[in-house]
Amino acid sequence: MKKGQLYINGQFREGADKQHLEVINPYDLEPIGSQSVAEGSDVRQAVSCAAESFKRWKKQSAYERGALLRKLYDLVLENEERLAKMITLEQGKPLSEAIGEVRYAASYLSWYAEEGIRIKGDILEPTHKTMRMQVIKQPVGPVGIITPWNFPLAMFVRKMAPALAAGCTVIIKPAEQTPLTAYEFFRLVDEAGFPDGVCQLVTGDPVEIGKIFMEAESLRKISFTGSTEVGKLLMAQSAETVKKVSLELGGHAPLIVFADADLDKAVQGTIDSKFRNCGQVCIATNRVLVEKSILPAYQEKLLEKVASLKAGSGFEENDMGPVIDRQGYEKISEHVDDALNRGANLLFGGQGYRQKDNQGGYLFQPTVLGNISEDMKIMQEETFGPVVPITAFETEEEALRIANQTPFGLASYFYTENISRAIRVSEGLEFGMVGINTGRISSAQAPFGGVKASGFGREGGYYGIEEYLHTKYIGTGI
Ligand code: ADP
Repeated sequence: MKKGQLYINGQFREGADKQHLEVINPYDLEPIGSQSVAEGSDVRQAVSCAAESFKRWKKQSAYERGALLRKLYDLVLENEERLAKMITLEQGKPLSEAIGEVRYAASYLSWYAEEGIRIKGDILEPTHKTMRMQVIKQPVGPVGIITPWNFPLAMFVRKMAPALAAGCTVIIKPAEQTPLTAYEFFRLVDEAGFPDGVCQLVTGDPVEIGKIFMEAESLRKISFTGSTEVGKLLMAQSAETVKKVSLELGGHAPLIVFADADLDKAVQGTIDSKFRNCGQVCIATNRVLVEKSILPAYQEKLLEKVASLKAGSGFEENDMGPVIDRQGYEKISEHVDDALNRGANLLFGGQGYRQKDNQGGYLFQPTVLGNISEDMKIMQEETFGPVVPITAFETEEEALRIANQTPFGLASYFYTENISRAIRVSEGLEFGMVGINTGRISSAQAPFGGVKASGFGREGGYYGIEEYLHTKYIGTGI
């Protein structure tokens, strides 16, 4: 049984009340370990240590900070198997995907190890000769980071790497379902030798921890990934201390296949963007829009591929692991049932089931639904499961109208071989990210983030570090 602890002021330790939360393997629902719970006093201590260490960390050179990030990057890669096994154990995704997640997370450490030294300001031409005008960038201050369970490592590394590179200190609160990956990672943070209080880990009651973060004057920024509902709550709470906030919230990605698309590419893109992590990805395709004339051909090719996908243990040769929990499973079932009740055709799958003897974790068959209409739940809400709902369209305008008909605006995808259409449609999609002829768009150098109910703020590249910097203007009379 793994026992994870908090990491506060450079020390691993229990929470003040020595409470633990149990961590469950979503595949068989067996306990795999426990994680220390932080009480209010522990969280407050972490906040004050982050404020104290910020005074020194911000004064270190970007080269010194970058060297520590580089060291952490090396340690993560040296330990990728251990980290990946923990991800599969507590989150359920196939081990090969978990290794991919570790490398993806590491790529942010590598990128920001170097991006910190590129922070730069401006010298402006003054209005009068007796004046000099300068613009500098400074770290915003200590940052609270709150992340979900679907990428237990990458979600917070993508935030902490730019924050540390910018000169901010961080307190990380991972999801209750997946705290042990964070604990394993923090063993490497400790080994890398970051100064005390620069990186801290707290786990426990999200409402209480969130409230302490939001009320703390000294925490100057919150970076959150999770549901739109919690994102709105944090945004409202941030008003009290006028904190800078970045929110990466839900998505409802359309994937449009035009008649002039390369069909094989479109089918592969659908598989890539839909079934990774059992569809539990905020940029996963949630709706497929296919031009009417090629609908039968697309469906035939897609069904052939989907038929070969297997769900099961992430430690065996499977394409998908379990759904994270009963709640997630029920939402997927509800979306499928609602669509079928409203006239959808079941083209493949459609069933959820328990892991063995009607017990254990929740699995869901890869599922394809045809004849989807806009009034169905699956066309409005994020499914977070392995379901492909397909609807037909006749014109480019109609495709864009349906695609944009959502409060969300995170990722979108489309397939065409026509260059003019590619430009028109990419400009017309009201989303923070667009994939043209690809279902895989996320990368350390690219700005990841959404518009509308999907939030604001960007992660990745130089855009990502800007989120952790203030712009200061200095006017000097001479
Ligand atoms: P999901 O449905 O993906 O679990 P949530 O928004 O519920 O999304 O959770 C994302 C993260 O937000 C998790 O770390 C969770 O513990 C945290 N969280 C949930 N409720 C709150 C809250 N009231 N204040 C702060 N954090 C919260």
